[in-house]
Amino acid sequence: MGSWVEGVWRWKLSWMREWFVWERNLVDNLFQSFHHISIQHEERDSLSWLMDQLGLCSVKSAYEAVVTHNVDCQRVEILDNIWNLKLPSKVNFFLWRVFIKRLPSMDNLLWRHIVVRENKALCMFCGEVVEDINHDFFSCKRIDGIWMFFLHGMSLSSALPHEAEHHYWQHVLLHDLVKKNSRWWYVWCATIWVV
Ligand SMILES: [Zn+2]
Repeated sequence: MGSWVEGVWRWKLSWMREWFVWERNLVDNLFQSFHHISIQHEERDSLSWLMDQLGLCSVKSAYEAVVTHNVDCQRVEILDNIWNLKLPSKVNFFLWRVFIKRLPSMDNLLWRHIVVRENKALCMFCGEVVEDINHDFFSCKRIDGIWMFFLHGMSLSSALPHEAEHHYWQHVLLHDLVKKNSRWWYVWCATIWVV
């Protein structure tokens, strides 16, 4: 966990495994949050709610924290809808993992040394860059053609984002069918599943 070095607390965390790529930012955020904490040698540990000046948690302070920190409602709505779609549960689960970037893509396997050589981790479609979730489903030039096919079918023209959440919204909004459970939900989800 850490130790005192000449009167200053030094964090030293040990981990059960290597981090996934998506976890690196979380770890950085964790260490950044430590900078605001002053460890006192003589004081007992205690729990404190950081969103309140007195360190006390209340419904009011929790609500204000949610509003102040601008919880991403669109993302919550997408994830909520993913689970409500009438699909085989394995498909719901897969889509959810795409959105939260929890698939064993090559960039992650490379990072964990499960795949050792970078040239073994290239995109299986274009073979030009290391595979990652955004590339696999959205930005690969081979996959982009599928999404463009849908647009052209509706006589639409647009560049599509290379990230799941934004890609989804643009795909649906462009087709002007924003109702939940519209067929474009299913077209988008089916395409991701098939890819
Ligand atoms: Zn590719």
